[in-house]
Amino acid sequence: MEDQDERGGSFIEQIIREDLESGRVSKVITRFPPEPNGYLHIGHAKSICLNFGIAEQFDGECNLRFDDTNPSKEETEYVESIMKDVSWLGFHWAKLRFASDYFDQFHEWALELVQAGKAYVDHQTADQIRQNRGTLTEPGVESPYRDRSVEENLELFRKMKEGHFPEGECVLRAKIDMSHPNLNMRDPVMYRILHQSHHRTGDKWCIYPMYDFAHGYEDAIEGVTHSICTLEFEDHRPLYDWFIENVSVPSRPRQYEFARLNLTYTVMSKRKLLELVSNRFVSGWDDPRMPTISGLRRRGYTPSSIRTFCKKIGVSKANSLVDVELLHHCIRDELNAVAPRAMAVLRPLKLIIENYPEGLSEEIEVLVNPEAETPSFRKVPFGRELFIEREDFMENPPAKFFRLSPGSEVRLKHAYIIKCNGFDKGPDGRVIAVRCEYYPESRGGEAPDGRRIKGTLHWVSAIHAVKAEVRLYDHLFTLESMDEMGEGTDYKDYLNPASLEVIQDCMVEPLLAEAAPMDRFQFFRLGYFVADQEHRKDHPLFNRTIPLKDSWAKAMGRVLK
Ligand code: ATP
Ligand code: MG
Repeated sequence: MEDQDERGGSFIEQIIREDLESGRVSKVITRFPPEPNGYLHIGHAKSICLNFGIAEQFDGECNLRFDDTNPSKEETEYVESIMKDVSWLGFHWAKLRFASDYFDQFHEWALELVQAGKAYVDHQTADQIRQNRGTLTEPGVESPYRDRSVEENLELFRKMKEGHFPEGECVLRAKIDMSHPNLNMRDPVMYRILHQSHHRTGDKWCIYPMYDFAHGYEDAIEGVTHSICTLEFEDHRPLYDWFIENVSVPSRPRQYEFARLNLTYTVMSKRKLLELVSNRFVSGWDDPRMPTISGLRRRGYTPSSIRTFCKKIGVSKANSLVDVELLHHCIRDELNAVAPRAMAVLRPLKLIIENYPEGLSEEIEVLVNPEAETPSFRKVPFGRELFIEREDFMENPPAKFFRLSPGSEVRLKHAYIIKCNGFDKGPDGRVIAVRCEYYPESRGGEAPDGRRIKGTLHWVSAIHAVKAEVRLYDHLFTLESMDEMGEGTDYKDYLNPASLEVIQDCMVEPLLAEAAPMDRFQFFRLGYFVADQEHRKDHPLFNRTIPLKDSWAKAMGRVLK
């Protein structure tokens, strides 16, 4: 997946090594430049791991810079969530900056360009500008305002800045080349008028810089050496360089591009994620089905599992679609090693052990985590009445049903072997209890005569059980590649109606009620679960991070333990 150099690093690491060796750069400075118009998603995590990771690796620095040049969509809530998410992922920025801190400087450089005859105020409408831009095969048409004098441009630009014009009346454009083969170089807009308050500069400005004009300057001001962005900016690089070369910047950054992350069954654009939130298709930015960092956190992901994922996908120059199972695999692998095992029953069915002494309550010793280097044990209460999963009993089982059915034998995890002797039905014909006998000598779960017992069930002691709510998740979308939507369809047409299943009346062992929010467990046979942030002792609430089955490892031919 990675474009690797001979020293095993990505193509970006290779470039940086060369720059350090040749002396072009003495200290590596990178930045992560989110626009504060939404919450960060797993795609951003790739960029964060890359930018902060490189700074760490080469003893450099990485800044967190908010690209807040567009007043209309930006909010302080987003700024705060982004800072929280970057920190949570385990990274430390050298400097915290806002592009809006540089508005005065941008304005001065714009004046420099005007004074040098390299920028002009254009009164064409947005439509006219678009139409006159030309195409890949036809040159553009020069604006009738293109050859205004420097004095006139200075005067008009001053009036723009001072609020003499309504929105859309005019823009400031760079004067480059209307027949340039790269459309981005055909007199791009530098400033537009927006009579809007900015979340940091308030009403000081009514002209706001465009991304292409501002971004390189932000990098130059901060001394960024390697400005790493996604591939769609490759065609903008000549413009990035042009703006840098034509004013007196303090340093000369260079832009490099890498492929953005796309995941199966996932949309990643902030615009769409915002729409899902505002139209209440999900409960919020941190809905555990969302590909946001906050959603993944609530889903039970750890920072290290996300960093591992970013490492595994690597950095390349070709766009690709990554299987979301790889992301699941990363957290599963990690939790397998560290998550304590616990007993929870999602859809309880009463099991009565008829030959178990009334009133007796034993404690069964269980391994906290069989994967741990030093084994530790804890005790789980056991008794005459238990809950098992409803689906673990069948009155008329098909062949190869190795769970409970009349006359069959199964193992109760860590406890005893039992044999089903019968069952009771309620007035509606539904099975309400299963009756069994147990073999006291099978304590620990092995039959004394060594006979093979295929099925092992998890269970919870009925008198000790605590009621809990559990949420199970599936893909938010039904289409594997959301880039391949059918014609005339919208991404919302592919929302998975079964992406969330809420089960109210689960029965869990008492230990789970005592959990703290964000504690993670493996529930036997069911998967990995995290106590939700709203989990309380009197209302236990768990989210399933992922089921146990590892289809990624299977596909990769890994042997599962
Ligand atoms: P979106 O399209 O989701 O709104 P964006 O690119 O507009 O994303 P920014 O806030 O501008 O979002 O992104 C900040 C940084 O994160 C940029 O450098 C951008 O290249 C990077 N980034 C955004 N999405 C991805 C992705 N899917 N994979 C890798 N990097 C990404
Ligand atoms: Mg953007």
